[in-house]
Amino acid sequence: MADEFKTVKAKKERRKKMKKKGKVKKEGKKLLEKKTTVLISYNKIDGFRSGWHAKNKVFICANDKGRGSETGQGEDRATKAGNVMHRLSGSYYHGAVPVKQVEQYYVYSGLHAMRQAIGMAKSLRSESQAPVTVVACNCDAREKENLLQGTGIDLIWCECGGETKMGQLAKATMAM
Ligand SMILES: [Zn+2]
Repeated sequence: MADEFKTVKAKKERRKKMKKKGKVKKEGKKLLEKKTTVLISYNKIDGFRSGWHAKNKVFICANDKGRGSETGQGEDRATKAGNVMHRLSGSYYHGAVPVKQVEQYYVYSGLHAMRQAIGMAKSLRSESQAPVTVVACNCDAREKENLLQGTGIDLIWCECGGETKMGQLAKATMAM
């Protein structure tokens, strides 16, 4: 009991000292900082490279080299894009973004790695409180709609490749 009281008192004392130095105020500000919007694409995202942007408001997880179906490893376009998507989701899950801090996910789903991208969107949806939006081109539109039906994942349409639309979404987030 007495020890506990001591600790509380010591904490208060420390806080007072920090307040004098202006450290407490800074800490408070940090907590109020904006949450992160995460954009994931096995293609490039126009105007952005993978990593943090705008004081951690935006996190990009993309194939900076270009289209996954061209730069990935494999015999055909689907395998190449699929491998890029696999690598991206692997590196994403190995800890770049604390899930709690995410306020929105955008995942691009095109033609060549459509299912892998939607699969990742679904797992993000089930693991996170944050809303997930699939940004999809019109290729196999009906199948995409079917795969997403009843999942609680939003769907918006974009051009094939998604480079422009994903770039616009990232910019719009930064302007918010
Ligand atoms: Zn397409």
